[in-house]
Amino acid sequence: MSGADTAQDAPILILLGPPGAGKGTQARMLEEKFGLVQLSTGDLLREAVAAGTDAGKAAKAVMEAGGLVSDEIVIAILSDRLDDKDCAGGVILDGFPRTTVQADALTDLLHERGQSVNAAISMEVQDDAMVERISGRFTCAACGEGFHDTFKPTEIKGVCDTCGSSDLKRRADDNAETVAERLKAYHLQTAPLITYYDSLDALKRIDAMGAIEEVASQLNSVVTEVTA
Ligand SMILES: [Zn+2]
Repeated sequence: MSGADTAQDAPILILLGPPGAGKGTQARMLEEKFGLVQLSTGDLLREAVAAGTDAGKAAKAVMEAGGLVSDEIVIAILSDRLDDKDCAGGVILDGFPRTTVQADALTDLLHERGQSVNAAISMEVQDDAMVERISGRFTCAACGEGFHDTFKPTEIKGVCDTCGSSDLKRRADDNAETVAERLKAYHLQTAPLITYYDSLDALKRIDAMGAIEEVASQLNSVVTEVTA
């Protein structure tokens, strides 16, 4: 927990990580360790609609008409949310900003509040290794046990170690080609944000290829450093 006494001191962190890099797990660990609140765009929208705030009503109208909620509305919802008491210890933004236009809008919003992004943390991965990691996964449909072709194979091929079932399933979108495309799309989308936060001197890169604890340890160091 940092020494955040006022909202102005509350750290604002952005977590950037490709699918499969363990971003969700790491964000939850940071929440617990530093008293941060993870704010994902989807949750923000749902909560604001449910709470019936002005921005929530605007978002609801757009979504019901099948449209995309504008950056302006998302920023208004985020602004409301940052005023909530539970955010006084700082937040981790997940899924926002997605574009440099949104990043600029966020910079302006925070500036008005006397705040700024303390760190945009990029969880860096090696794409080839990620493809192997994700495309090797399979699960026992009977008991839910997870396995991996390379890292955790079954003792007997095609048979679950835990329950003996041979009903082992792979997620359709875990195949190597799809994973490689998801990573490519991630890099294309994220590269401008990396440049943007690097130019603000707020970019932190961590190696996200290690074990969960190793990645967590690097994240802890970064968060401790930027919230000190
Ligand atoms: Zn099983």
